[in-house]
Amino acid sequence: MKARLDHVGIAVKDLQQALAFYRDALGLHVEAAEDVLEQRVRAHFIPVGECALELLEATASDSTIAKYIEKRGPGIHHITLRVDDIAAALEQLKARGVRLVDEAPQAGAEGALVAFIHPSSAHGVLVELKQLSSGVAFAPPSAAESATPPGSDSVPRFKTATRYALGRLELTTLCDGFFGLDGGAMFGIIPRPLWEKRLQPDARNRVPLAMRPLLVRGERTLLIDAGCGDKMDAKSADIYGLERAYHLDHSLKDAGVSPEEIDLVVATHLHFDHVGGFTTRAEDGRVVPRFPRARYVVNRGEWEDASYPNERSRASYVPENFKPLAEAGVLDLVDDDAEIMTGVRLRRSGGHTRHHQVVMIESEDRTAVFVADMYPTSAHAPDVWVMAYDLYPLDTLAFKRRFAREAAEREYLLFFEHDPALAAGLLRRRDGKPAVERIL
Ligand SMILES: [Zn+2]
Ligand SMILES: [Zn+2]
Repeated sequence: MKARLDHVGIAVKDLQQALAFYRDALGLHVEAAEDVLEQRVRAHFIPVGECALELLEATASDSTIAKYIEKRGPGIHHITLRVDDIAAALEQLKARGVRLVDEAPQAGAEGALVAFIHPSSAHGVLVELKQLSSGVAFAPPSAAESATPPGSDSVPRFKTATRYALGRLELTTLCDGFFGLDGGAMFGIIPRPLWEKRLQPDARNRVPLAMRPLLVRGERTLLIDAGCGDKMDAKSADIYGLERAYHLDHSLKDAGVSPEEIDLVVATHLHFDHVGGFTTRAEDGRVVPRFPRARYVVNRGEWEDASYPNERSRASYVPENFKPLAEAGVLDLVDDDAEIMTGVRLRRSGGHTRHHQVVMIESEDRTAVFVADMYPTSAHAPDVWVMAYDLYPLDTLAFKRRFAREAAEREYLLFFEHDPALAAGLLRRRDGKPAVERIL
């Protein structure tokens, strides 16, 4: 087996003191923290040559790191060896009677597969094996925080600008803040006792939702959807429990992209929580395109339906979010299933709205899909967990049936626009039921 040192994990009791040494005294660069929510650990990566040090800080008293420090004090916690084929490595170790913590590879950050070897077989050292995903993320997620905005308080809110390499394309999941929608409406015919286990509603029955546009950098710089933006009035902001302390501007800044760099903006559909950020109010009060250099791509059928809404669809379509694009001459209407740039094409799903499009992103045999309101959150993995907001729910059901099989077979990485606690994952079957395995 060939192995390379990937990183050394160091359990840290007092982060400030640790930074005073690693960052200030040694002068090393410490990257932005990454929260591993399930393990209640915050990781700070420090690149050193081809390897890294990973400072591990407990975020709760029942965290594995807290327990480790309690027992042994701060210090080296594990070493991580990178291998080419983790499954083969585990077989080889099992054959030699090595005691493993993980018999099978587990999903790690950034699409990697990991497994721990028990210290009793590794001479007192906790050894982690790691196999990078074929689409290797080149930076650890730059920032992930938990916060408790108004609305329900039990779900961790995951704010982030996280990069992911998909073949030759670079994807960055962004965040325009959080809002809430009626839990019953979000889950259609599913009874509350089932959905409230996944997303707990607040006193006004709203479940917490994120707005996560996706940035794609390839031959051009493309933004998919843009959140609700900054034009919402106070009454609506209260109804929707809007929380934008961290919004798209912050997120783009964290991603190192200025609004002027964006060439193309594409809409999955024209609902306010997807395209409010397409326009902004200028100082003179006029509403103008938000991205000064961009062309805006919208499906023609969706444009027509949004321009002539009915009683059922009207509340979601706010003309000032999209009409100014036509007036400014920056609008490109396209037919269903349009190609946007190399590796990026729209695919009509229908269902949620008649011309709702998901975005297929393909490079070097890998596929990511921005699923928009077909799977608003990872809780919507089962085919029949369809929103009551959908205008054509049976079309949503038909699309999901087809798509779920395809996504599992071809290992699509799905980007969830509204999930409060995760940004992307793989659709898998767990105990025969569809479930999402978190990647970002
Ligand atoms: Zn929608
Ligand atoms: Zn939506």
